Amino acid sequence: MPLMTTKPMFDLAYGGGFAVGAFNVNNMEISQAIIEACAAEKSPLILQISKGARKYANMRYLKHMIDAAVEEHPEIPIAIHLDHGDTVELVKTCINDGFTSVMIDGSHHPYEENVHVTADAVKVAHAAGVVVEAELGMLGGIEEDVVGLSAEEYEKNIEKFLTDPKQAIDFYKRTNIDSLAVAIGTSHGAYKFKHEAKLAFNRIEELMKTCPGLPLVMHGSSSVPQEFVELVNQYGGKMPNAKGVPEDQISMAVRNYGVCKVNIDTDLRLAMTAKIREVFATKPAEFDPRNYLGPAREAIQKMVQRKLHVLNSAGKADAIMKHWEKLGKPLPSFYNKTKAA
Ligand SMILES: [Zn+2]
Repeated sequence: MPLMTTKPMFDLAYGGGFAVGAFNVNNMEISQAIIEACAAEKSPLILQISKGARKYANMRYLKHMIDAAVEEHPEIPIAIHLDHGDTVELVKTCINDGFTSVMIDGSHHPYEENVHVTADAVKVAHAAGVVVEAELGMLGGIEEDVVGLSAEEYEKNIEKFLTDPKQAIDFYKRTNIDSLAVAIGTSHGAYKFKHEAKLAFNRIEELMKTCPGLPLVMHGSSSVPQEFVELVNQYGGKMPNAKGVPEDQISMAVRNYGVCKVNIDTDLRLAMTAKIREVFATKPAEFDPRNYLGPAREAIQKMVQRKLHVLNSAGKADAIMKHWEKLGKPLPSFYNKTKAA
């Protein structure tokens, strides 16, 4: 039963020179590609589900796909996480659906309101043995319902939007969160930077000083691989100037700093779209979905495998499993009640 919270993962990731990849799941091919990549690289995994994914795929289907993954690969530590939960109601629903980790994102609210909604979500989640990620600061870009600032606006006023280290410790103390999504210069979507991509490493250092031991989370951290952007543009797509966070900067953030979780969604979408476009353009007579979804799945798996080395989480599955066993195999109460009975 290797479905667990992120705690055993972050215990080892913080100061351990690696981060756990949190990949967004929307359909079967994407899920399979991510899971097979983690199995091949013996890497822990956070499967993220957004409100949009719940709506698109139907939670019941997603849930059974995740159960299938857990059965296929009992050797891989997996957490199921709600990405950008916007209400305590949704947090409750996800806990009942068996999520082991939830995000409550109150970052668009005024500070005091963010504190309150986050503290409420933590109370509900902790009572069920589920961990909570919250967000402080402002990210650029657009992701589903989460609309941030344009790359230009964001870069111009970046200091104003980065997570304030002093506010972070106040927030941490008053909410009792388990991890914090921080604004350190990353952006959602495929158009993250107008100019040179740069993460605010000094801000991460300051946050680690004011909030020692608090696992930090990087959103908007896809690297937007140019090979896929080129395929998209070559085969009839139109994504000029798509730009992400360079992998060497992500690698530095996870190896030298307290970043324990890195969110990847755009890169999955991009790999899938690029491959499907390539098949459609080069084999116009093709109409068997397996023959374009199959190559898309392969491309995602290959890309995720490379990513797991960037995050340095490859080969860390065993150590996390052992640590989880040492902690007494804690599970959210949902599992204690239903699955273990
Ligand atoms: Zn995000």
